[in-house]
Amino acid sequence: MVPPLSKPADHAFLTRQERLRARIENQKLSLLIVTNPSNIFYLTGFRGSAGVAVLGPSDARLWVDPRYTLQAREQAHGVEVIEARTSLLSVVGQWIRSRKAHRVGYDDGHLTCAEFRTLRERSASKSRGAAWERAGGINEELRVVKDASEIELIRQAGQLTAAVFEEIRPLARPGAREADLAAEIEYRLRRNGAEGVAFETIVASGARGALPHARASSKRLEAGELVIFDLGAILGGYAADMTRTMYLGTPRRRVQRLYAAVLEAERAAVEAVRAGVRASDVDAAARRALKRRDLDRYFTHSTGHGVGIEVHEQPRLGRGEKSRLEAGSVVTVEPGIYLEGFGGIRIEDTVLVGPNGAEVLTPAAKDNWAVR
Ligand code: ZN
Ligand code: ZN
Repeated sequence: MVPPLSKPADHAFLTRQERLRARIENQKLSLLIVTNPSNIFYLTGFRGSAGVAVLGPSDARLWVDPRYTLQAREQAHGVEVIEARTSLLSVVGQWIRSRKAHRVGYDDGHLTCAEFRTLRERSASKSRGAAWERAGGINEELRVVKDASEIELIRQAGQLTAAVFEEIRPLARPGAREADLAAEIEYRLRRNGAEGVAFETIVASGARGALPHARASSKRLEAGELVIFDLGAILGGYAADMTRTMYLGTPRRRVQRLYAAVLEAERAAVEAVRAGVRASDVDAAARRALKRRDLDRYFTHSTGHGVGIEVHEQPRLGRGEKSRLEAGSVVTVEPGIYLEGFGGIRIEDTVLVGPNGAEVLTPAAKDNWAVR
């Protein structure tokens, strides 16, 4: 089902490293230590779960342990790959000492205190040590705007996610177990080309749907229940994120009104997405639509989040988020209402922010939601 994966060209990684270098120089750092595997993947293409990259005006290195040497030599672009025979961070610390770096940035949002101590102790010389600067977020900010190859991968992940949901839609019927449906979704995502799932698939029926992050349980679906499906494929290292809600039976007027309200809120928020608008404006559009039906108090989370290498990244679409959306960002729009003891309705799409509007990347139907 999936066409050959579009891989970022080598120069895409070099461009990302150049953009990061400009920021490193801006912050007057002599080196930046990158430890978060998502950032290392973004900068080099290396997909191992451990490694330390170091970038500076004239440095681009990636230390890996022997498990990953071959993989890193194959995958990593624009960096010199070095095998560390002892602990990665002590080897990197010793190199920093020999390099006599002045100001070294590190990812304070990722490194543990113990890891940071190793780095600092190993890099200190008798005369003087480097000054350590917190530089968490410097990489994540770059990742907010996706390049063409990233957008293509998320688009493919979104199409795969939507196609698999359409396949399993007929299996959602009274008697089916939530866990079986979740397993079926994950199996089919992989069978159709996904490398894995972006997060544990949610299938939450009846009253369980009122818990926004319920996991699939051994509960069986029953007639007269709402069922929330939240799923996403990973493809080429990039995630998609989509939610659909179904109803088993012929919905009463009240349920129809609730569903219509959430659908309207989702449409209003998608229509509000455009380069230049504040993230909080998209959130407000969803909330306003629900308020018109007096349902806004049941919408208990924020409207969306960025999607890319990680399924939750910048920007956040919530109240008080003043940052402006940029063309090339990919975000979710996912209003929902949660009624204790009754159930939940959430509709979520992953969308691409464009100069004049949004492109929906998870094109599964939303109108045939009732299984009669
Ligand atoms: Zn989701
Ligand atoms: Zn989401």
